[in-house]
Amino acid sequence: MSFDRFGRDINYLRISLTDKCNLRCVYCMPEDITFRPRAELLQDDEILRLVRVFTKLGFEKFRLTGGEPTVRANIVNIVSGITSTPGVKIMAMTTNGLLLKELSRPLAEAGLQRVNISIDTLNPEKFKTVTRWGKIEDVLEGIDAAQDAGLGIKLNAVVIRDYNDKEDVVDLARLTLEQPWQMRFIEMMPFGSVSEFQRANVVSEDELIGTISDALGPLTPVNGGKLDGEARMFKLSAANGTLGFISSVSKPFCAGCTRARLTADGRLRLCLLRDMEVNLLKPIRDGVDDDELTEIIREAIWWKPWGHGLEQGVIPLTRVMSEIGG
Ligand code: SAM
Repeated sequence: MSFDRFGRDINYLRISLTDKCNLRCVYCMPEDITFRPRAELLQDDEILRLVRVFTKLGFEKFRLTGGEPTVRANIVNIVSGITSTPGVKIMAMTTNGLLLKELSRPLAEAGLQRVNISIDTLNPEKFKTVTRWGKIEDVLEGIDAAQDAGLGIKLNAVVIRDYNDKEDVVDLARLTLEQPWQMRFIEMMPFGSVSEFQRANVVSEDELIGTISDALGPLTPVNGGKLDGEARMFKLSAANGTLGFISSVSKPFCAGCTRARLTADGRLRLCLLRDMEVNLLKPIRDGVDDDELTEIIREAIWWKPWGHGLEQGVIPLTRVMSEIGG
């Protein structure tokens, strides 16, 4: 097991496979972003080696993210390499869903168990505006394909004031009446160059619950209001699915955090909203052995920060969300 100095057992690694994305969501990345050269990114064998080392440290849950993980070459092989590593119990992916129509089945056969698919609105025009060019039909087809392939499905919507905080949120919540999905509403977090927009347009969980319950009836807490991972869970009456609210900024869940993040360029990031990172790519390319690599990671985890410092005005500045993976 791998404990930090606050006694938290850190056992969940989110791996960003690439900083590239086939969309440019306005709250996530600037349109003119320059991507890193391939040689600066972790190569497939380096990722699989790190997964082996992390499992020896007690990590059991792995999530692939990005950028957009499905645009990474060899994605199916990377997934099967991870799922066949002893000690890996849960294998999930966060994706915009655009390529799931083709990839759901091969990914499921490679051992992927769950997908979190980002969908901020069901309105085609608004979807195009927020993603700068995306087609909602592609996401909906991706969701169907994931369902047909037997993947577990959660949907993620980042809520932005005056964009999707009213009827769009209600339309998304309504999906759970029929479908067994978890529809999660994510509070927008501030990062680097886009932080002013993000901070100005946050919508609180209480406000969202009010909007949804006015339209669709009361929400009942699930699990006595306990968090499911990072989400506070509710259910509409007679719904097949659930609603989750992830309020990382206003109601942080740092005490229960079990995560570490690996950026596409091989930095171990200990808190999403803090810039502290430990370079793993350099020692790997300098030729350290597995014992030395394990010690570097163990030490980094020990120093994991307690939580974000947004209230003290500390905003992550070195990377935008698309470079970390969420
Ligand atoms: N491309 C994939 C996707 O669209 O899901 C994976 C990467 S994306 C960075 C992961 C998640 O982070 C998405 O659900 C996205 O909406 C969310 N996200 C991006 N920027 C955010 C921000 N500033 N605050 C909160 N969530 C954000």
